[in-house]
Amino acid sequence: MTDLSADVLEFLVCPACHGRFTWDYEASELICSSSDCGLAYPLRGGIPILLVDEARKPSAE
Ligand SMILES: [Zn+2]
Repeated sequence: MTDLSADVLEFLVCPACHGRFTWDYEASELICSSSDCGLAYPLRGGIPILLVDEARKPSAE
């Protein structure tokens, strides 16, 4: 089971905006909490892929 502790989340910031993340269990994604950014970063094998090129952009345009 893939899981990230709150401790880990505290160390991670969005590489695009340096915002904090929220963890979406169902999607297995880290969602940037900045309303101006909102990128969703995937997890692969339990490792967050914090690359802007790999992030999913918010659907709203
Ligand atoms: Zn961000």
